[in-house]
Amino acid sequence: MSKTSCDGCGRTVTVSGGIANLWSFGTDAGTVGTGITLELEDGSSHLLCYPCLEAIPDYPTTEDVERLERVDDETSRIGTL
Ligand SMILES: [Zn+2]
Repeated sequence: MSKTSCDGCGRTVTVSGGIANLWSFGTDAGTVGTGITLELEDGSSHLLCYPCLEAIPDYPTTEDVERLERVDDETSRIGTL
């Protein structure tokens, strides 16, 4: 496990490395302070916390990720530019 920050809102997230993390997606979903790496269709990858994953569209773009902002400890939203 290591600590880093969400590419969207900047909140601190904890990530467990390696493919073993895939097995815990079901139980960890919604846990505050946990994030996953999201790969976009343009080939870029972004580390996002779960609130940001909830906020972005099903097929997010880099612009969507950049517009993410933290609302409170459990909520993120896509801000307007
Ligand atoms: Zn976030």
